[in-house]
Amino acid sequence: MRPIQATIHLAALRHNLDVVQMSAPQSKVIAVVKANGYGHGLLNVAQGLKAADMFAVLRIEEATTLRDASYQHPILLLEGVFDAYELPLAAQHQLSLVIHCVQQVEMLEQVTLARKVQVFVKMNTGMNRLGFKPELYPDIVKRLERCENVAQLCLMTHFATADDARGVGQAQAIFNASVSGLQHPISLANSAAILRYPEAHADYVRPGIMLYGASPVAGVSAQSYGLQPVMRLGSKIIATQNLQAGESVGYGAIFTAEKPTRIGVVACGYADGYPRHAPNGTPIAVLGKRTRTVGRVSMDMLFVDISEIAEADIGAEVELWGNTVSVDEVAQASGTIGYELLCAISSRVPMKVVE
Ligand SMILES: *Cc1c(COP(=O)(O)O)cnc(C)c1O
Repeated sequence: MRPIQATIHLAALRHNLDVVQMSAPQSKVIAVVKANGYGHGLLNVAQGLKAADMFAVLRIEEATTLRDASYQHPILLLEGVFDAYELPLAAQHQLSLVIHCVQQVEMLEQVTLARKVQVFVKMNTGMNRLGFKPELYPDIVKRLERCENVAQLCLMTHFATADDARGVGQAQAIFNASVSGLQHPISLANSAAILRYPEAHADYVRPGIMLYGASPVAGVSAQSYGLQPVMRLGSKIIATQNLQAGESVGYGAIFTAEKPTRIGVVACGYADGYPRHAPNGTPIAVLGKRTRTVGRVSMDMLFVDISEIAEADIGAEVELWGNTVSVDEVAQASGTIGYELLCAISSRVPMKVVE
């Protein structure tokens, strides 16, 4: 069998959830498991995160998958419903809905539901993606308070710059000014705000990336936040090559040896989700030792410099990311973020869940 494998560590999920709970001890935790659990497998991560108070997903199908697997947690649909016909199904499965636009308010007012639904009313505090303008927000909340299909109501926003120097202050001030007359639970914080802004924790926090052991903040390691990587992407060397000085490797010959160089060919390529943009020198580990990639990543293979790892031969264990090389390091070298690499793991990579 082709040796690539993603190992999912449930103990790391539990540990990272503990980090969230210790960081925000007054808040309930909505574990964000959208995008197939950030690439780790929805049901794998639900298992590791079952101690969370609530789950959040994007699509109603993800929510029903969790219900079919007997998870009875409240589940939040992060963009609400996309069509009115989804509302009865959402109510039947006791899903909570984000309400971000007037059309969704109207849908909820016009439908007859077997039971009431919890709603999270979203304010646009500067992201300008989803949500009601602050000046319209109180009236929308009051309108929803009168809607007979609404059970509990929560107030929420999403920060655009929680991960950089601008922070959440401006967005939080806009939010607070708008909700001052309203008495409902509040949810504001994604991972970056959980780790950086205790004053934004409020009643419900919404961690995503930190649960998977990657960092939400560029230039700050997940390890420094006490997080543990959940996914280890591993494979093996399937061929070796000895390059003389002046010889190149791979498509486009983007790496040329300056001295005799021993190369391992690894069974992992961009069709597995490894970034094609990873340049020469991207960190990677062979037999537990850190080294570098060389040459262009191809669809099914990539190259590693094993000149300094004499014991590495065909069959040697390679870590693309995990404990020795963080996904954030590979992402940074490739001009992206850990989120993208984790979500992009391809379905042809077998997953193994371990305690
Ligand atoms: C994805 C998402 C989150 C989680 O964000 P992280 O940066 O991964 O912690 C939180 N809230 C909303 C509304 C989201 O869409």
